[in-house]
Amino acid sequence: MMNSIFFKKTKPTILIVDDEASNLMILSDLLQADYDLKVAKSAKKAFEILKYQNYNMDLILLDVLMPEMDGYEMCKILKNDSNTNNIPIIFVTAKVNQEDEEFGLNIGAIDYITKPYNQTIIKLRVRNQIDAKLKSDMLEELSMYDGLTNIPNRRFFDERFGQLYKECARDAISLCVMMLDIDFFKPYNDNYGHGKGDDALKKVANALFGSLRRPTDFVARYGGEEFVVLLKDISKEDTEFVAQSIIEAVRGLHVEHNYSSVEKIITLSIGVAFKDKTEDVLKDDLLKMADDALYEAKERGKNRYILHTVREKNEI
Ligand code: GH3
Ligand code: MG
Ligand code: MG
Repeated sequence: MMNSIFFKKTKPTILIVDDEASNLMILSDLLQADYDLKVAKSAKKAFEILKYQNYNMDLILLDVLMPEMDGYEMCKILKNDSNTNNIPIIFVTAKVNQEDEEFGLNIGAIDYITKPYNQTIIKLRVRNQIDAKLKSDMLEELSMYDGLTNIPNRRFFDERFGQLYKECARDAISLCVMMLDIDFFKPYNDNYGHGKGDDALKKVANALFGSLRRPTDFVARYGGEEFVVLLKDISKEDTEFVAQSIIEAVRGLHVEHNYSSVEKIITLSIGVAFKDKTEDVLKDDLLKMADDALYEAKERGKNRYILHTVREKNEI
């Protein structure tokens, strides 16, 4: 689900930075069978490549002595930038004394290889670092997904919401937050049992995921039987359309629920908060608007959505 390591198909990517073409060629020959390689003859070019790759890089092999910016300087910059600070860096250099090696490791490099090097050893060191990087990526990613439903969890939501909120405020893009909550889920659990309850949660999560259409649409499990949806760059009318289609998608599962007072199937209620392009609202207030709207949807009989807009809020 989503854009995830579970579906990653490509080789790990390595960036090699060295001002000498002959060094680049030796390393390329050595590594190209196993990795997707990018090469740069200067720090400046390397930064361009990283940006172009959206900072998706599994390892950087970095020369120390280069004109203009040297490898140490580049390493410090990479380690101080949140986009790049978790990319492992190995120095590959002719600087051989221990102070240099100590300095390199001190500023955040994960390994230090001196030239001339043994080709087999460099291959193995690269492989070991790549293995460690892929494992840590996997753990990081697992920590962002809900174990029961396999959709993003609260932590992932917090991160995503923070980014989206900033982006939409900066670029005057509309933003919608929906809080969703299954109706009469306690009686469902009490009567059908926790196992059936878990099954129902999985089905609902799947239906929610399936109702979203655009790559930037986002759904997470907020906790318990609550979910949250983020939509950006959308009109108020379209948020209502999406909310209604989510309600119908969940009803369309036809999960029997004889202990619900609204229907004999599982349904949910949605609170929708909508901030139009240039409207101003604090991030937490937008979330609270969605919460309040959800509360109102429950009060008004559940199995429905209620929309609150920043405009109305400001008029009150
Ligand atoms: P309302 O219609 O007003 O939303 O009421 P409700 O019964 O759905 O809500 P309430 O907050 O009283 O109960 C939520 C229930 O959700 C409590 C718990 O039994 C169930 N629940 C929460 N997390 C899980 C879970 O991970 N698995 C299962 N099976 N049940 C869960
Ligand atoms: Mg050099
Ligand atoms: Mg509920």
